Amino acid sequence: MCCACYSPESTDDNDVLMCDFKGCFRAFHMKCLSPAMTLEEFESQFGDEETPWFCPFCCCLDDAIYMVNDFCFGDDGARLSALSAGSGGERAKYCERTL
Ligand SMILES: [Zn+2]
Ligand SMILES: [Zn+2]
Repeated sequence: MCCACYSPESTDDNDVLMCDFKGCFRAFHMKCLSPAMTLEEFESQFGDEETPWFCPFCCCLDDAIYMVNDFCFGDDGARLSALSAGSGGERAKYCERTL
């Protein structure tokens, strides 16, 4: 059942997406998301079944964890979590270029 409109209906162009975050069982219609997602957009981003889709609540949670890390551990914490998230490589590449 969709967490936004409480309707269990799903159609081909307005499918119900289930959150892949561990312990979260929220579901949302593509069109109940903001911004709304189309089937084409969803399939191009998450269509390979390997890419998890997180509901807006879990996306916020992820941001909040990052912000708390940043707040508690300063730059080191931010760098550590950036590395574990896989974006550290990007930053390393950027540093190499600027040196
Ligand atoms: Zn809905
Ligand atoms: Zn979720």
